[in-house]
Amino acid sequence: MILDRRSLVRGLMGSTAAAATLPLARRSALAAIELRYGLEPRQAAPGIWLFEGRTEYFSVRNGGNIVNTCFVDTGEGLVVFDTGPCRIYGEEMRAAIRRASPMPVRQVVLSHAHPDHYLGNQAFTDVPIMAGPATRAMLQELAGPFADNMYRLIDVWMRGTETVPPTEDLAAGLLPFGRRRLEVLLLAGHTRQDAALFDHDTGTLIAGDLVFWNRAPTTPSADIPSWLRSLDRLEAMAPKRVVPGHGGVSEGVVAIRQTRRYLEWLAATLGEAAEKGLAMAEAMRLPIPAEFQDIAVLPGEYVRSVSHLYPAIEQATLPRIN
Ligand SMILES: [Zn+2]
Repeated sequence: MILDRRSLVRGLMGSTAAAATLPLARRSALAAIELRYGLEPRQAAPGIWLFEGRTEYFSVRNGGNIVNTCFVDTGEGLVVFDTGPCRIYGEEMRAAIRRASPMPVRQVVLSHAHPDHYLGNQAFTDVPIMAGPATRAMLQELAGPFADNMYRLIDVWMRGTETVPPTEDLAAGLLPFGRRRLEVLLLAGHTRQDAALFDHDTGTLIAGDLVFWNRAPTTPSADIPSWLRSLDRLEAMAPKRVVPGHGGVSEGVVAIRQTRRYLEWLAATLGEAAEKGLAMAEAMRLPIPAEFQDIAVLPGEYVRSVSHLYPAIEQATLPRIN
């Protein structure tokens, strides 16, 4: 479902004709929203700050502030990791970074091509915006529908937001500047390409959406076998702490393991459901194990995963009849 963005924007800009078509309750709810997140960075490790989002699904109430974005002081400028879900977020983030550090932003690194991670790019057009080549290709293909969907989810918060594509290819390896050993990892599985940063100096992994912590992983673009291989790679780096794409900072590798167990359960459960010939609606009602009961956004995120993943799993499982 793609929203007619022009008519929505007209409504939001206060055209009485368009506004009159919105239900009264919705109109007054939107008018009451103050478009300010109150973003404040907190330190995750020496020289590494994050803006921690809520472990909720997108809503007009949270304005899409459900994602973690970061910045790292390299000693020769700041590297920003992801820019959030809209222009307002990006601008607030930039202002908060300015208050927190006298160092200039040197470049932006984008983790992947999901809109809650790059739609704040408008606030960073004066610096290189880097993304892996496959991320750039995916963004080129899907930026339009992704922005439309975000208008549907967070509404007024998207006011004035335009997609700013990345300007340069991000390469794997140590960043070629700065005084800390900050390594770019180019992996895959959550999407076609997922970038993470590993700070060798503090043992901090900024994992992007390869890792979720106490928040159910999202799977609209996922390839679970490749995601699991990426998690092996991240665990092998033995991080002291992990800043996930969604959820709080965690010590050691617990968040990597939780993400892995959830994905393994998801893949096994849907595989078995397809073997048994369950319909999609039946697969959606399967019980969630006790170990995941306290994970946020369940069972909603599980139901969404079934809708994304089940058709292909059924295809692969059903016997071919010639
Ligand atoms: Zn995300």
